[in-house]
Amino acid sequence: MPNRNSHANRTPERTCVVCRNKRVVNELVSFVTLREGLIFDLDRSLQIRKNYVCPSNECLRGLEKWKKRYAKKTFGAAFAL
Ligand SMILES: [Zn+2]
Repeated sequence: MPNRNSHANRTPERTCVVCRNKRVVNELVSFVTLREGLIFDLDRSLQIRKNYVCPSNECLRGLEKWKKRYAKKTFGAAFAL
């Protein structure tokens, strides 16, 4: 009888920055936001703090808006992508 409360084999979940839905990490696309723009971490090699987005058209479209908001918040109003 498997232990339903066991967290040992739990797949980590992350929240999509656009729709705020939680999904398991390998269903999401991870990226980092730099001053130069977004860098998608397609081979998951980046070891810094990442953001996650669903690989759906809606969320990828929404990412454009999110990016502007995020950039403004993080780098200031002078920032332009
Ligand atoms: Zn999403």
